[in-house]
Amino acid sequence: MKITDHIKNAKGKTLFSFELLPPMKGQSIQWIYDAIDPLMEFKPPFIDVTSLREDYIYKQKDNGLLEKVSYRKRPGTIAICAAIINKYGVDAVPHLICGGFTKEETENALIDLQFLGIDNVLVLRGDARKADSGFVPTPGGHHYATDLLQHVKNHNAGKFLHEDIEISAKSDFCIGVAGYPEKHFEAPNLKTDFKYLKMKVDMGAEFIVTQMFFDNQKYFDFVKKCRENDINVPIIPGLKPISAIGQLVALPKIFHIDLPEDLSEAIQDCKNPKDVKQVGTEFMIQQCKELMDFGVPVLHFYTMGKPEQTYNIAKAIF
Ligand code: FAD
Repeated sequence: MKITDHIKNAKGKTLFSFELLPPMKGQSIQWIYDAIDPLMEFKPPFIDVTSLREDYIYKQKDNGLLEKVSYRKRPGTIAICAAIINKYGVDAVPHLICGGFTKEETENALIDLQFLGIDNVLVLRGDARKADSGFVPTPGGHHYATDLLQHVKNHNAGKFLHEDIEISAKSDFCIGVAGYPEKHFEAPNLKTDFKYLKMKVDMGAEFIVTQMFFDNQKYFDFVKKCRENDINVPIIPGLKPISAIGQLVALPKIFHIDLPEDLSEAIQDCKNPKDVKQVGTEFMIQQCKELMDFGVPVLHFYTMGKPEQTYNIAKAIF
């Protein structure tokens, strides 16, 4: 079922959902099931699975020279989505990214998704490779989420990249996109970033999932600005509880977000790692309660494959 229909059917009740990343290459699918099993208690209507582009490593050859090789650390997004649907009977939402895929590979992935009965996709540009200083599109691939979105729209309309063939069953993917209450780090200002968000919605995106944030006011302002600009699709807040003291530095650095002073001070005052988790959990419970009072359609948790803290938060609010 489409995410927009899940939200409609909930009739104003806040839903619970979460995001997982594929296991490291070589690990078992059990890693995914162990991350999902405890959270099924909260009846998620859908589960997101991220997608990671390739990166580079340098391997030493017999002659001592270094060889640059491309590798994908966490493959398997589509297969994991199929496994989730099969095992749990809930919708799985694959993240489709521009980086690392040619347009032909994207087209083939869309065909796989259609055959698997997957109804939703989250389309994203994708992160830059660690080895690059900024995002470098794959030759023959898409550059911006808007390009990928147009590709999915074309696919839904029965237009393939190269062939003009008769279509007996068009796809009808419900397309989601990313939104940044605190601005995407490359955008020169919020206004420009907003212009592209609006472009994504005007092109046919049906829901927005936000980057994580810790100050609800930023989300409220973002929603207000969206509504004033005629962006009327559901805006699903993405949430990540703090679980380790190192995240006080890591989260702002990686995700370009601010942490509220009271939260960062409370974490700095913690005597041991267990206390940090407890502070992060309690903060997130309050944050979620406020978001539910505001009427958010879904609380969407970035679990990183570790369900325990999300479980404790969901247990306190659902
Ligand atoms: P875009 O919408 O393409 O925007 C990128 C930048 O370009 C922005 O600064 C924007 O203002 C600007 N821009 C947008 N469109 C245009 C245009 N047409 N012309 C010129 N400039 C433009 N990364 C992964 O690698 N894998 C994942 O699975 C993943 N999941 C994510 C899930 C969520 C909910 C979020 C919020 C992020 C996720 N990311 C993921 C990270 C995301 O890929 C990065 O934040 C990336 O840098 C931007 O992606 P985007 O889709 O927002 O890009």
